[in-house]
Amino acid sequence: MAHSAPAIVILGNGSLATARKIQQLYSGALIHGLADRVEGADRSYREFGATLRELYQQDTPIIALCAAGIVIRTLAPLLLEKGAEPPVLAVAEDGSAVVPLLGGLGGVNVMARAIAAGLDVAAAITTSGELRFGTCLLNPPSGYALGDLELGKRFVSDLLAGQSVRIEGAAPWLDQAQLPEDPQARLSIHVGSAERTPAANELMIYPRSVLVAVSAEVADLPSAVRMALHQAKIAVQSLACLLASDLDMANPALREAALELGVPLRFTSASGVSELARHTVPHATVVTADSGIAIAVASQPLELAQIGRARGRLAVIGLGPGAAELMVPAVKAELARANDVLGYETYVRMAGPFRDDQVLHCTDNREEMQRARHAFELAAQGRSVVVVSSGDPGVFAMAAAVLEALHESSEPAWHSVDLEILPGVSASLATAAQAGAPLGHDFCVMSLSDNLKPWAIIEKRLDLAAEADLALAFYNPISRARPWQLGQALEIVGRHRTPETVVVLGRDIGRPGQTLRVTTLGALTPDQVDMRTMVLIGSSTTCVFPRAEGGKWVYTPRWYGDKPTS
Ligand code: SAH
Repeated sequence: MAHSAPAIVILGNGSLATARKIQQLYSGALIHGLADRVEGADRSYREFGATLRELYQQDTPIIALCAAGIVIRTLAPLLLEKGAEPPVLAVAEDGSAVVPLLGGLGGVNVMARAIAAGLDVAAAITTSGELRFGTCLLNPPSGYALGDLELGKRFVSDLLAGQSVRIEGAAPWLDQAQLPEDPQARLSIHVGSAERTPAANELMIYPRSVLVAVSAEVADLPSAVRMALHQAKIAVQSLACLLASDLDMANPALREAALELGVPLRFTSASGVSELARHTVPHATVVTADSGIAIAVASQPLELAQIGRARGRLAVIGLGPGAAELMVPAVKAELARANDVLGYETYVRMAGPFRDDQVLHCTDNREEMQRARHAFELAAQGRSVVVVSSGDPGVFAMAAAVLEALHESSEPAWHSVDLEILPGVSASLATAAQAGAPLGHDFCVMSLSDNLKPWAIIEKRLDLAAEADLALAFYNPISRARPWQLGQALEIVGRHRTPETVVVLGRDIGRPGQTLRVTTLGALTPDQVDMRTMVLIGSSTTCVFPRAEGGKWVYTPRWYGDKPTS
């Protein structure tokens, strides 16, 4: 199974040197350091336990530079649950010991050996099969699938008990292994794509060498594919991917079928399934089953990258205000899978660090439509593309621009892209949360920028919203090019609100050097505000009281008029 780059988790500065050495072994590996204790980590975290469990549940390999016991106790609650089991290793802070703990089938021993070699020590391998044979038989390389795990375990213990083994079929990765081979052996490892019930004492390993070209019209595709493979006496475990025509790229039935069969879906331009199959896998044997399904069997595992292309993906994501803790997990996962990242340079930097293989396209903040079109061009080539916004992408940001570009386009390839908008914590909500709950009742969100709308509309909306006694959240309150608008806006609001009205100013919320100020409408002047500030203006019911730790709590009660009895 292919895992993402490992997370290297450290608790103190003392481990940084060892962490850096390990980082060199894995492109894309990030060092996660405990906030306030580690300087110079790629990511900082506040809670060790929560962080480790989150990584584990996201199936991220974990290299923790701390006592093995701490890691075990932290992950223990998750171990009984079925689900992801990424490799987990404990490494001594000074790099003197490497202990693989979990994820035997995910290649933890392979990682332990690589890390140990990098640190010039021996890995603490305790898996007997692996020690004896130098490989984990139950973890064949990518391109191969193990038939049955439980049978496999019994098979390995028989081998360990001293039995010999025969290898049938091509298993190049076992050439290096120190297996007790004997052509007369009772036990056998069988590598092949034929469908059959394993004989007693037989370990089946399937090369993923079969492609099935399908037409989207076939009813109940997953069953039809299984049936076709069965009729051709080909094991479903050998299925490497489904292939379909470019024209059906956005077809949901195809996507669901691939998901259900647990294989990737690729596309190419050809008419008719047998032509699809024939052209994509050279030298393959093509079996045409029913109309609408053709099977191509290669002599070796298929290289997915050489088979057509994937459906491109475009995700418009919100980073949240800045702090990594406030970024939603779906956004983190999207950034990890991205081939291309587009956005205003400041935000692209905030979304990093990135791996060397990820392409960054930084542009000026004002080139939004151009950026949106560029994103579609890249995604239409089959790439996984991310467009970044700060806060939420749907709030005065890229999501609307991306949809506008798509709406204007008649390019079928753009409309076939797998487009998704992933939300983020918007600046108004992040600021409100820090102040308390100033937006706890009805509120109105406005951008004061008149770049894309006439100032007269802004004035009218301000007037009506202020009159309606809505709390107000102002984005883009002021800039060098728009120096007078905020003063004007405050004047309009002042016609409907008293000078005592509560105002919250949040600057760089969730970013280094953030400030939060609670003031009043009467005391607010435009020079206290810049383009990195969120302005929240309370309604007539918004109130303030002191916090024990200093400063103030601000909230707008949920009720209006007479307080209901509770
Ligand atoms: N999509 C963003 C808003 C983009 S408009 C979001 O949902 O937050 C840019 C404006 O948002 C800025 O002028 C500022 O008013 C506000 N803003 C964005 N990030 C902020 C932050 N971290 N702290 C305070 N205000 C912020």
